[in-house]
Amino acid sequence: MSRSLDSCIKCDRIHQHLLYLKNIHKDYHNGPVKGSGSKDSDICIVGLAPGLHGANRTGDVFNGDFSGNVLNNCLAEAGFRKSFENNYPFITNAVKCYPENNKPKISEIKNCSYFLSNEILEMKNLKIIIALGKVSHDAVLRIFNLALSKYIFKHGVSHNLAKEIALIDSYHCSKININTKRVSKKMLRDIFSLAKSCQLKS
Ligand code: SF4
Repeated sequence: MSRSLDSCIKCDRIHQHLLYLKNIHKDYHNGPVKGSGSKDSDICIVGLAPGLHGANRTGDVFNGDFSGNVLNNCLAEAGFRKSFENNYPFITNAVKCYPENNKPKISEIKNCSYFLSNEILEMKNLKIIIALGKVSHDAVLRIFNLALSKYIFKHGVSHNLAKEIALIDSYHCSKININTKRVSKKMLRDIFSLAKSCQLKS
């Protein structure tokens, strides 16, 4: 049975928290946020979930907060131009609603895999998936029915998922990861440049 993203309330804990947020941040989107960009692209970037004051506010994925700015700037610096729409990565999240404290439960990630899976399956030219963080890495593996134990998350590592589809791991571009120097903007640019070079070769 098909499910509508816009009206999805499958995760009760998340739904209840969004109802609470609607009273606190009345002008925020406070609902599911779909992926953005062209599904004709051969690259898909999968983040964790909407940021409280980013996509959860604006309703646009990776838009309006620190991590969105870092992601978009690093993509531009790696040579991706939004004007070339079909070549610009499709950007989405493993979990489409803001989970309290940015910590989705495993059951919520599994609930939302329906929507991530649909987005990925619609990308007929898909060659590269960039997972921002281990949660996204695992969510992508589940969609491809691959054993999590066989594909270890490591920044900069590429895994073959299926014929002609590779998964590249990256640390998430979150404020905490940048501030603690777990990942730098250069490291992120290098990941996107690697994807860009694969795009140019194909
Ligand atoms: S996180 Fe996903 S599955 Fe859960 S309520 Fe939001 S859209 Fe639905």
